[in-house]
Amino acid sequence: MSLPPLVEPAAELTVDEVRRYSRHLIIPDVGMAGQKRLKNAKVLCVGAGGLGSPALLYLAAAGVGTLGVIDFDVVDESNLQRQVIHGQSDVGRPKAESAAASVREINPLIDVVAHNEILTTENVMEIFARYDLIVDGTDNFATRYMVNDAAVLLGKPYVWGSIYRFDGQASVFWAEHGPCYRCLYPEPPPPGMVPSCAEGGVLGVLCASIGSIQVNEAIKLLTGIGEPLVGRLMIYDALEMNYRSVKVRKDPECVLCGKNPTVTELLEDYEAFCGAVSAEAAEAVSGSTITATELKSWQDAGENIYVVDVREPNEYEIVSIPGAVLIPKGEFLNGSALEKLPQDKKIVLHCKSGVRSAECLAIVKNAGFSDAVHVGGGVLSWIKTIDPSLPTY
Ligand SMILES: [Zn+2]
Repeated sequence: MSLPPLVEPAAELTVDEVRRYSRHLIIPDVGMAGQKRLKNAKVLCVGAGGLGSPALLYLAAAGVGTLGVIDFDVVDESNLQRQVIHGQSDVGRPKAESAAASVREINPLIDVVAHNEILTTENVMEIFARYDLIVDGTDNFATRYMVNDAAVLLGKPYVWGSIYRFDGQASVFWAEHGPCYRCLYPEPPPPGMVPSCAEGGVLGVLCASIGSIQVNEAIKLLTGIGEPLVGRLMIYDALEMNYRSVKVRKDPECVLCGKNPTVTELLEDYEAFCGAVSAEAAEAVSGSTITATELKSWQDAGENIYVVDVREPNEYEIVSIPGAVLIPKGEFLNGSALEKLPQDKKIVLHCKSGVRSAECLAIVKNAGFSDAVHVGGGVLSWIKTIDPSLPTY
C-alpha cells in the first residue's frame, strides 16, 4: 500500500540547501519535490534516548525543516553506551537541550525545538498538534499507550520502535490507514513481566538498527514514496541477523480505533493503566519496606537477617550489596527459591530499584514468611545513600 505524501512541498530550496542535500536530490524518487516536502515537515521525536538519538541525528541530516524533541531526563553516564547524540561533556545536562545542540551542529539550516519537559496527558495533545508526524522513542508502556492514544485521537501517524537486548521491533501506526498500537497490544503486559532495558540491558548498536528504520519510514511517509510499514510489524534479531515482517491487522473491536470505540479521549492516568507494580505487590510492600539506611544499621547491629538479591547474575556481578545472596526473580516465580530461604532469619529482599523485589515479596509473604521486607529503591538507593563509590548502571 503506497500513501500520498504527508506534507506539501516548501516553495523553494536555497542554494545552500541544494548543495547540502544534493545526494538526495539526484535520487529520482526523492528529487527536488521530496526534499522540499522534508523542508516543510514538522517531526517530533518523543525521547532523546536510545532510539531518539539516531533518529534525531538522521532526521536532522536529512533536512526535516522543523525537528522537535521532548525529554525531561538528564544525560547520565550509563546512557553514553548507546545514546550517541550525547557526549561526555553533556553528562548532567537536560537531554532535550543536549540533543538540540547536536542537531544544530549537524544541520544549522533547520529549526529545532527542545521541549525540556515530561510528556503528560496535560500537554501531549497540544504538543503533538504542532507536528505532522511523531517518532516514538519511549521506553515504557505508560508513555507508549499515551503516545498511541494521542496520535489516534489527533489522526496523526507515528513511527514506533522498541528494543531489548538483541531484539528490536518497529511499525507505523496510523489509524486512518491501518492498525494502531492497541490493535497489536490491546492490554499492557502485567507489571514486572516485561523487563525494561534498564533491567535487562540492550546492545547499544541495536538502537541504530531500529532508530534508522524509524527514520526511513518517517521519510517515506513525509514524501509519499515506497511502501510504508503501515499494517506490518518489522522484527529484527541481531544475533541471527535477520529481519522479518509480519502482517498486523486493524482490530475491528479495538477500543480506540475500532468500529465502536470506548476510548474517545485520553485516559486519566496511564501509569495506573499500566500499573507500576501489581496489586499483590503493592499490598505486600505496604508496611514492609525498609530503606537502604535501615538495612545498613541492621547489618551493623548484627541483626538476624538474610539479604536476598533477586536480580540477574550479570547485574549482581556489576554491583551488589555486601552479604546479599543472589536468587533471581525467576526462581521466586517458579517456586524453587522458597526452599533456599532460611526459616529462622528475617528475609530482606532487594533488586535494582524496588519493582522486582516487590513482586517477589508478595510471593515470599504468601509462602508464610510474614515478617519479610524489601528495600525501597533497591541497590540504586544503597549506592546513593550508603556507598557512592560503587558503580551504578
Ligand atoms: Zn486500534
